[in-house]
Amino acid sequence: MAARPAPYLDDLNPAQREAVEALDGPVLMLAGAGTGKTKALTTRIAHLLNTGRARPNEILAVTFTNKAAREMKERVARTLGQSVEGMPWMGTFHAICVKLLRRHAELVDLKSNFTILDTDDQLRLLKQLISAANIDDKRWPARMLAGLIDGWKNRAWGPSQVPAGEAAAYNNMGGELYEAYQRRLVELNAVDFGDLLLHMVSIFQKHPDVLAQYQRWFRYILVDEYQDTNVAQYLWLRLLAADHKNICCVGDDDQSIYGWRGAEVGNILRFEKDFPGAKVVRLEQNYRSTPHILAAASGVIAGNRSRLGKELWTEAQEGEKVRLIGHWDGEEEARWIGEEIESLQRGTRGLPPRSLDDMAILVRASHQMRAFEDRFLTIGLPYRVIGGPRFYERMEIRDAMAYFRIAVSPDDDLAFERIVNTPKRGLGDKAQQKIQMAARSNGVPLLEGARILLEEKGLGGKGAAELRKLVDACARWHAAVLNAQLDFLDEDAVLDDGLVPLQPPLPGLSHVELAEVILDESGYTAHWQNDKSPEAPGRLENLKELVKALENFDNLQGFLEHVALIMDNEQEETEEKVTIMTLHGAKGLEFPVVFLPGWEDGLFPSQRSMDENGLKGLEEERRLAYVGITRAEELCTISFAANRRLYGQWQSSMPSRFIDELPEDHVEVLTPPGLYGGGYGAAGLNTGSMGAGFGTGLAGGMEQRATKADVYNSPGWKRMQARRSERPLSQPRESRASAIDLEAVSSFTAGNRVFHQKFGYGIVMGIEGDKLDIAFEKAGAKKVVARFVVAADQ
Ligand code: ATP
Ligand code: MG
Repeated sequence: MAARPAPYLDDLNPAQREAVEALDGPVLMLAGAGTGKTKALTTRIAHLLNTGRARPNEILAVTFTNKAAREMKERVARTLGQSVEGMPWMGTFHAICVKLLRRHAELVDLKSNFTILDTDDQLRLLKQLISAANIDDKRWPARMLAGLIDGWKNRAWGPSQVPAGEAAAYNNMGGELYEAYQRRLVELNAVDFGDLLLHMVSIFQKHPDVLAQYQRWFRYILVDEYQDTNVAQYLWLRLLAADHKNICCVGDDDQSIYGWRGAEVGNILRFEKDFPGAKVVRLEQNYRSTPHILAAASGVIAGNRSRLGKELWTEAQEGEKVRLIGHWDGEEEARWIGEEIESLQRGTRGLPPRSLDDMAILVRASHQMRAFEDRFLTIGLPYRVIGGPRFYERMEIRDAMAYFRIAVSPDDDLAFERIVNTPKRGLGDKAQQKIQMAARSNGVPLLEGARILLEEKGLGGKGAAELRKLVDACARWHAAVLNAQLDFLDEDAVLDDGLVPLQPPLPGLSHVELAEVILDESGYTAHWQNDKSPEAPGRLENLKELVKALENFDNLQGFLEHVALIMDNEQEETEEKVTIMTLHGAKGLEFPVVFLPGWEDGLFPSQRSMDENGLKGLEEERRLAYVGITRAEELCTISFAANRRLYGQWQSSMPSRFIDELPEDHVEVLTPPGLYGGGYGAAGLNTGSMGAGFGTGLAGGMEQRATKADVYNSPGWKRMQARRSERPLSQPRESRASAIDLEAVSSFTAGNRVFHQKFGYGIVMGIEGDKLDIAFEKAGAKKVVARFVVAADQ
């Protein structure tokens, strides 16, 4: 191919251009966020193709996510102004290694159709080996062994390469069990994620002919987000590049956020040693963010001791300061951000309207997403969740919802099918077929079919006992649902279905308590508590978050309807949407407007990360904060809540220490809604004038500019702190209920228009203690406990 003109080079600064045009030999591009590393890398690929140095299939380009790989392909095409046919070796380490390993599986005694185990499978396998070795897995959890083995694989240590000191871990059995585990995997024709790299490295090391073939094949190697590679990945790259040394790595030590997965920032230092004479390119001009955003990010990351250190500058206009705002609780934070997004979309305050696609909310922990999803659905704000299912689509949430559904509607067969053997109760396919048959021949729902089957003694053994427990529990839960309805209806109301509970109901349980009881009695909570996989704690947090969501509803039915509507709410993919994702997932991306919620000590920096890794953990969290702030181009808003429900408990939280590290000159503290107006009601009741007092914050020249100290010293903030200590938030439901009772009674007078979840709108005719006589528009006159209605618009 003859060299064509390369107009795209004109879009680069001299340093980038140097990195792009140095096509041969090792290049290390080490530079801060938004300096155009990925742009240079992409342009380099385009240049390789355009100059005819390489064909698309001769370029090995490693990116961090599959999404990044797709985007890179598009960017190359755009740079060249033509589509690029086939770039088969552009992808993640894992994706590329799976393809390679399938070609050479026999060299590590596997067949090419090997399966890839997920973390659950991996743990199950380890548990079997642990118990075969007569080790008490309560003292020596399987998860610990899994962590050790992953760590060894990340360092490219096969069983025979683990140093003796390390192999003695896990009660002196670590090394031995690792070996047994690898043998078992081969027997099963399976690999785990760590094996993909480990096997490829060992194939390259033991079979020089295979290695040579790929060294010839991959003539140019490029790696983005290099700071997050682990040792095994590094060795793999080094082997492939050893001959031609055409390798270009770009990264930023300040954005290394996968240390917990074995990434080694040291790989950056190693590169120059292993590839002497490497061209090291430093980029310092940031093209992404405004000076305030950049200064805020630099101020935070300066707190880290272990870093290479670098300066960033920008020519961009000064723009808005980073905005900081405190809220009463997480729900209010979500509400405020929702309103803020809507007003940015409308383009009020003299600013041009913004597309929802330009805005992102980046959270530290995925359970934070729920509050936003709920809020956005309520106000009809389209959103997408990237890097994971939406909250209500997660496996554990669907399981839990199926339990709630069967409690509300015992004839919900789909729910029954989902839960009958989740968690495992020894009710496998055979038992389930029998239940199906019993149900079909009697023309009844599955749950009833199961009851009949038991009565007729059609099922034996442990399964029968377990099914009996489940059937009884379902009946009890249903009775409790009905009981809650009784409480909720006026005294004389008769239940619609006239069903008399056979089981003693669970007395006086609220629907929130009932939900907790259901998850406990079913063994579902315990199932995840006993699960030692890395995902289990997250799943438990999601379950807690689910129970928390119930508090916003009067009963389980109302909640289930809400979720059903949510799930029905799939929007067209072409529609513009706000992005919700984790900070980890946001690496390398950019958005004009970024919200960073939940900056509270314990949540961010995450307590777990600090507990497990001390100062190293804290520094990694700080890099994550740096990644977060530097995603923003024009507007970055950081927020925190004074109260958050974590692990099912209300906790008053302290603003994150990272907030203190933000340089004052580049931060504008917004007035939390109600702070000066004294509008903070009981938690969850504050529906007052959101956004009042804040609104002018963006337009500049507004009255309520406050510093951080102003906010902490303000009477409103102190009052909020004082209330926090007065009201024991650890028992939110009771204290909340009584607060609501009082307010409800005192706030209604005859003639008020009210709304009731079940009976709809009505007018208060009279008041008697905590009960109201209400003439409902559709349901007629009823007496209703005051706390079950809310004031409606007149
Ligand atoms: P990160 O560290 O976050 O991955 P990065 O260094 O990879 O950032 P890029 O994403 O490549 O940065 O670039 C950031 C933004 O700056 C992009 O919008 C890109 O198009 C723009 N940009 C990069 N280089 C230039 C340049 N020389 N002139 C104008 N814009 C540029
Ligand atoms: Mg990048």
